[in-house]
Amino acid sequence: MRKKPLLLHYYITNRCNSRCTFCSIWQDRPKFDVSIEDVTKNLEDAWRAGCTFVDFTGGEPLLHEKLPEFLDIAKRTGFITSVTTNCILFPDRAAELDGKIDLLHFSLDADNSELHDSMHGVKSYEQVIKSVDVAKKYHLTPDLLFSYSNENIDHFSGVAKFAQRNRIITILDPLFSLAGPDAISSATHEKAKNFAKLRGVYLNHAHLFLRSQGGNHTREPLCKAVETTVVILPDNKLALPCYHHRSVADPINKNLYELLKQSHREEALKKQGAYSFCEFCHINCYFDPSYTILKKKFFWLSMKSKFKYAFDKYIYFSNPLPITILITLLRRKFTLKTEKTIFTRFNTKFIKPGGE
Ligand code: SF4
Ligand code: SF4
Repeated sequence: MRKKPLLLHYYITNRCNSRCTFCSIWQDRPKFDVSIEDVTKNLEDAWRAGCTFVDFTGGEPLLHEKLPEFLDIAKRTGFITSVTTNCILFPDRAAELDGKIDLLHFSLDADNSELHDSMHGVKSYEQVIKSVDVAKKYHLTPDLLFSYSNENIDHFSGVAKFAQRNRIITILDPLFSLAGPDAISSATHEKAKNFAKLRGVYLNHAHLFLRSQGGNHTREPLCKAVETTVVILPDNKLALPCYHHRSVADPINKNLYELLKQSHREEALKKQGAYSFCEFCHINCYFDPSYTILKKKFFWLSMKSKFKYAFDKYIYFSNPLPITILITLLRRKFTLKTEKTIFTRFNTKFIKPGGE
């Protein structure tokens, strides 16, 4: 069982230049942006705590003028980086991001501007299409992120064809409800499942299995959000147990590493998936890392799906990132092992049995 968190969800701003119908972050008040000092310290602490992946999110992360610097710091530290963008600013800022993002996602939710733009509340369809071409010039290989619901699933095939022409992956991501059971019908999930058989289309089948079980249940929790994920808010607070249902938000004050060992997180670790608001939960961003430590069917379904993603992206479409990921994971394993050996030797030599 994993004892250390794997993923840092870093909310670097709660500003957004879209008005998506399925999201409320753009309505948050007051507005905050993280500072470079806090990012530098928090990345150092999160790496030390065990995080290997950092997702710079928001809001719209490209609205933060210092995103390229954050990515530089993260890459220097050793993180595998990811960013999801609505693409409105991408063509103007792509040059600054050159080679700094390992997993880049462009949100595209329909094969026509009318539906996509109505879902996003602003005109952004054309910018996404343009961004795919722009990314190629800057050593960036985006995936298209298609957030599906009953309303737009029939507009997926055009997106998949566009992606295949451009030799990029499309991710089918089921929209989630923040409270209550899954609002997506089983017929829609079935269509998604069939689309996912196509070359270059990724869907984590563990999500579908979770939803077929009615999501998380508090009597027998599946969620490992606190164990696998660290969530930092734009006002530099640690959110627990997760972003969407944060019952605690502790100020970090340049002390993330210590904060991760303190009582609020310990309590949240015990209660993850068992709070009253956790009943029926199916929030993809927390279950995705949870599958890595869940047993049997969830783990294997997720692994099988990720294997298809990796095969399609890195072999079928020939992109070189797995080598980067492999090197990072080996480096992480080797570093931890070496540290453990050094500390064991140190303890044996200098610390008496029973001492602190
Ligand atoms: S672009 Fe992202 S953060 Fe902005 S409103 Fe849409 S879903 Fe929310
Ligand atoms: S089950 Fe859902 S609401 Fe509960 S802690 Fe996990 S992600 Fe948050």
